[in-house]
Amino acid sequence: MTRKYEFKWDLLGDIVEGRPNLGPMVHIEAYRLMQYCFRDILEKNFGTEKTDQLFFESGQLAGVEFYKNLIKEASSFNDFIKTLQATLVEKGIGILRMEEVDLENGKFVISVFEDLDCSGLPELDYEFCRYDEGFIAGLLEAFTGHRFHVKEIDCWCTGDRTCRFVAEIIND
Ligand SMILES: [Zn+2]
Repeated sequence: MTRKYEFKWDLLGDIVEGRPNLGPMVHIEAYRLMQYCFRDILEKNFGTEKTDQLFFESGQLAGVEFYKNLIKEASSFNDFIKTLQATLVEKGIGILRMEEVDLENGKFVISVFEDLDCSGLPELDYEFCRYDEGFIAGLLEAFTGHRFHVKEIDCWCTGDRTCRFVAEIIND
C-alpha cells in the first residue's frame, strides 16, 4: 500500500528553529490529552482489544526508533540499560529500574517510576500502559534482535506507586 504517514524521526522536526520562544518542553497534560483522546476515538471506531493492540504496536515502533536514534548502539546489556536509563530521565519519560535480569532465558522484570503515561492517574481496575508495554518490547527488540512479549503487572492505576513490567523473549 502507498503510505502517507510512515514514521520518520525527521517528523519530530527542528525544535530549536521551530520554537525559539517556547523551547522543547510541553506540559504532560498536553501529551496525555492527545494520547487518551486518541484512545477514546480508536476504541469507539475499532473496539477495546484492537485499540490495545494498536497502542502496543505504536509503542513498539517508538521503542525501536528511540533505540535507533537516541541509544544508537550499546556494547553490552549493562551499557544499553545505563544509556537507556539516562536518556529516559533526560527526556522526562520515567525512572527505569531493572528488578530482575535473566539474560540466559531472556526474562526481565522492569519497573518505571514517575511514568509519563500513567503516574498520578486515578485508580482504575486495570493496568493502563499498553503503549509502554510496546515501548519496552521495541527497545529490547532493537537491542537483542529478538521479539519480546511484555506485560504490565503493576501500575499506578491499580494502586501501585510504580509501573512494573515482565518481559519475556519470544523464541521463534
Ligand atoms: Zn502503568
